[in-house]
Amino acid sequence: MHNKESIPSFDLKRNYARVEGEIKEALDRVLSSTQFILGPEVTAFENEAAGYLEAHRAVSAASGTDALLLALMALDVKPGDEVITTPFSFFATASCISRLGARIVFADVEPGSYNISMDRVREAVTERAKAFIPVHLFGQMCSLEDITEFMASRNIAVVEDCAQAFGAHRTRGGAIARAGVWGDLGCFSFFPTKNLGAFGDAGMVSSASDTLADRVAKLRVHGSSSSYLHDEIGINSRMDAIQAAILRVRLRHVETWTEERRDAARRYNLLFAEHNLYEHVTPPAEAKGNRHTYHQYVIRASRRDELNAFMAERGIATRVYYPLALHLQPCFAYLGYGKGDFPAAEKLTEEVLALPMFPELTMPEQERVVGAMAEFYRS
Ligand SMILES: *Cc1c(COP(=O)(O)O)cnc(C)c1O
Repeated sequence: MHNKESIPSFDLKRNYARVEGEIKEALDRVLSSTQFILGPEVTAFENEAAGYLEAHRAVSAASGTDALLLALMALDVKPGDEVITTPFSFFATASCISRLGARIVFADVEPGSYNISMDRVREAVTERAKAFIPVHLFGQMCSLEDITEFMASRNIAVVEDCAQAFGAHRTRGGAIARAGVWGDLGCFSFFPTKNLGAFGDAGMVSSASDTLADRVAKLRVHGSSSSYLHDEIGINSRMDAIQAAILRVRLRHVETWTEERRDAARRYNLLFAEHNLYEHVTPPAEAKGNRHTYHQYVIRASRRDELNAFMAERGIATRVYYPLALHLQPCFAYLGYGKGDFPAAEKLTEEVLALPMFPELTMPEQERVVGAMAEFYRS
């Protein structure tokens, strides 16, 4: 029989079923503690997350967007400064820069990894550059080893956007180093569908610097270091204890879930070969030394829009991340960029397609996904 059940892009229900007991126990603990914002549960999560990342410090925040904003605030990014980043990312990467009145300077991407090109970044540096935000897109780290030194020598801070890359790593000097420990600050999102997801909004900033971590910790509580005394103007960006308790449970499983995503990615690659799809489809490339965590499994496909519609008709949820490059967003028109300025990023917006990807995705489901693609390219 033909299985007509739809295949989602992500299935939180299946994931919840695996940890329901542990989560309910953790929630009970928080509910009876009646300590709902910050407090011991949040501190415990920060310490456990820092331990996992092998980061010196981790300071939680209310979202990934706030983590980026707090990181830039801690660096004193202000009007007149420039911050370099990629035009091919989620909106929040760039909006945090303009919220502080600084200028966004985009640099084009590499077509193979979808990540920002370090050659283009070097060309984009001016006297006014204050920070650089590499985004580890879709779960794969940027090649940061040379650029961090280059930036340090010019007094330009590196703020990693790790929102999609919790648990990703890359070899450095023979050892592995996780996303979030390469730059001056690392910013994480625990939005429910991220690889480590809360059950609401949550985020975190990592840093090797006590000065920067302390500054973030102060800025997230209205710039106050002791009760009702404000050294500076901060924001309200505290993590809920309920989210911390859920994250502590899920952190214990994130390695297993990441390996399951990696298995699913390998299966897709094999299925493309089996169905002779490599002439139409380019799978995501894992660069040497990298551990891709497949937050999204994003291919480049010929006739992408037609394929996307064809899959939808068959009940298979494929998605376009991202359909419009950031330099072409209406709200950034004031920057003066136009079509053709970042050709690699613009080309990706026409070719990329995210296939269903989550730890519980099954082989029969993947066979259906790739089978439907094969049917499309035969037509
Ligand atoms: C999700 C995401 C963010 C923002 O995180 P929120 O927790 O949703 O605020 C920032 N950057 C990237 C690349 C993201 O994917």
